[in-house]
Amino acid sequence: MKNSGNSDTGKNDINKIMRMIPKVDAIINMPHFAEISGSAERAELKRAAREYTGELRSRILAGEITQDEIPTERDVCAAVSARIIKDADRSLRKTVNATGIVIHTNLGRAPLGDSIMSRAAKIASGYSNLEYDIEKGERSQRNLHVEKLICEITGAEAAVVVNNNASAVFLALNSIAAGKKTAVSRGELVEIGGSFRVPDIMSASGAELIETGTTNKTKVSDYVNAIEEKGAEVLLKVHTSNFKIEGFTENVSISQLAATGREYGCPVIYDIGAAFLVQRELVGIHDGETARKCIEDGADVIMFSGDKLMGSTQAGIIAGKRKYIDPMRSNSFMRMLRPDKLQLAILEETLIHCLDPRDAIESVPVLKMLSLKKEELTEKAEALAERLRSVCGSCEFEVTACSDEAGGGSLPGVEISGAAVSVLSGVRRADEIERFIRAYDIPVVARIRDGRLVISVRTLLDGDDDIIEAAFAKLEMEINKERI
Ligand SMILES: *Cc1c(COP(=O)(O)O)cnc(C)c1O
Repeated sequence: MKNSGNSDTGKNDINKIMRMIPKVDAIINMPHFAEISGSAERAELKRAAREYTGELRSRILAGEITQDEIPTERDVCAAVSARIIKDADRSLRKTVNATGIVIHTNLGRAPLGDSIMSRAAKIASGYSNLEYDIEKGERSQRNLHVEKLICEITGAEAAVVVNNNASAVFLALNSIAAGKKTAVSRGELVEIGGSFRVPDIMSASGAELIETGTTNKTKVSDYVNAIEEKGAEVLLKVHTSNFKIEGFTENVSISQLAATGREYGCPVIYDIGAAFLVQRELVGIHDGETARKCIEDGADVIMFSGDKLMGSTQAGIIAGKRKYIDPMRSNSFMRMLRPDKLQLAILEETLIHCLDPRDAIESVPVLKMLSLKKEELTEKAEALAERLRSVCGSCEFEVTACSDEAGGGSLPGVEISGAAVSVLSGVRRADEIERFIRAYDIPVVARIRDGRLVISVRTLLDGDDDIIEAAFAKLEMEINKERI
């Protein structure tokens, strides 16, 4: 029987009942919730627990709950679970990437990892010295938090950070090449996804394009010709990120271009797109540019994305000679292009890990995933296949070799050998299975190769195998329902 008011329950009783309510921390540490481990999920659990205990308290105060109606641990778990806002209620949802494409443009590019995010969350969830010099008690610049680290890692004299690399290219060109003839190889006048076309960005920035060389071959003499005959004053090199010309080709390396630039006194700008901040060999990759090497090779200014091979958040990093970088800080476009505190907090944390490359390979998920060896992946795939066999008898699960990619236009044409679980079923077509697991509570995105669904394990994060197992268990239930 519920009491209808305070009259039946004295103040002391109420206090006594109140003390019986589990604390928020006790709830979130109940074994029932042990599997909720991601920082975002833990935060949501805490919110739900707080909401629940708050309501419980109000109901006790209103005399609606007596001592013997205090919920048991089981009741608490059920009630809090019901209050957790499920991912499926949100528009932006966690998704399992089983494609083997590490920097997947459609799936959020670089995953950031809990250790980097928990530090960044601490900064972003409260106030910080984003634009404040703590020692002097004065206004300061937001870019200073990461500049020293970028310089230390790349060997550059100075650096600025903007919102993404497209902005970086625009800002660098606007600051250095506006109103100036700028030579670019015809083979590098590329479109990089969406509407980022090199000629368009150049004209928007005020740089005047001097097309140089041909589509498949550009030589040092072509740049010399652009300077001597056509009056080029700036040399721009663009990494042809998402395609590779094969066959009869020739292009000018950044060190050759830098030498030409020095000879004629022309600044040399290199849009790398995707750059490693650690030696690529440590990651086990033998293609792609390393930011430090490009600076050593003599580029005056380089720019690259924060969320490609750097493995951090969306950002555009511009690094190089101080005389070119400093004017960018006061460029009036800077205000439109500047990064926010969350980006800077994540960048700072990523950069700190990159100071020790071996640490970076463990803590930066993109680097970790790229460095996984075929043998490790085969083991992972075998373990996953075994789990899937135990929950889904209607399908066959076979471990196969597969070809993974860096993605994001990062290492075009580079195939990285990986391992996958290949799924075959007598009762479901591959595209039906693909659709089913994509429609699961936490969507699982996988590819179809040669008529089979292929789950590449390289891009699976901690806990993703539990989700895939649950998705196939659900598939099995559905298939069995039809059989009855
Ligand atoms: C990806 C890329 C860009 C655009 O970078 P965002 O970070 O996506 O803005 C520009 N240039 C090159 C060469 C690229 O590869």
